[in-house]
Amino acid sequence: MKHSEKSIDKTISIVKDVLSAGFDIRVAAEVALIDPCDEYSIANCLEEYGEYNDDGNLAKLIVNIYYLNIKDNLIIPDGAKWKIDDGNGIWDEDWRLDKNDIIDNIDWDEIRSYKTVWINLTGNLPAVSFFGDVDHFEFSEKITIHPNVPPCRDDFEHDWQSPYEVVGGIEENPGVKGNGGGVIMKRVCKNCGKYKITNTWDYDPEDGIQGLTSIHYEDADDTSLEWIDDEVQ
Ligand SMILES: [Zn+2]
Repeated sequence: MKHSEKSIDKTISIVKDVLSAGFDIRVAAEVALIDPCDEYSIANCLEEYGEYNDDGNLAKLIVNIYYLNIKDNLIIPDGAKWKIDDGNGIWDEDWRLDKNDIIDNIDWDEIRSYKTVWINLTGNLPAVSFFGDVDHFEFSEKITIHPNVPPCRDDFEHDWQSPYEVVGGIEENPGVKGNGGGVIMKRVCKNCGKYKITNTWDYDPEDGIQGLTSIHYEDADDTSLEWIDDEVQ
């Protein structure tokens, strides 16, 4: 059910809640008709019935009915606006769903690349305090999308190893080299010869944030395939 499609049962139960909290039918009807996706509708109702609102009771009631997550004493309404930015621009400036709906609805395989990418979700969330003050605050979340793991050989699973003769580096710690505040690790699969490169100090080109972990895979090459042959013999 969309947030805007309130069922009649829901409306009746809101009316009952408001009546049982001691407010009259006019207030109950008004509260029941609030569009839960529209923070201004909620704010207007709070303002209009301010006379009932001296002790915050009506505000609390409205908040309880229409607003979901409590954060720092502010309540974020269900259906707040989110923006999503994949570095090539904002997709939808008015996506009124909750964050998990957005994450669940995205076709990640369309975005997924040969190497880890990051998607930045930003929200301009209307929020209301328990006393009916409406405010906005910015919220952002970085979503990490790792590449799909390429298949191993036949029915094998990858067995990532770091033989010095294949992955190089220093003998004490093969395949590892320092990178900023982290390392780049190169591993090779003992079964198929593909490489897995993990960078623990990568950065998101969109916002320049560093220290992110990225992964990419590389095809087997002569060096890795020869190593596999040698190991088998
Ligand atoms: Zn493999």
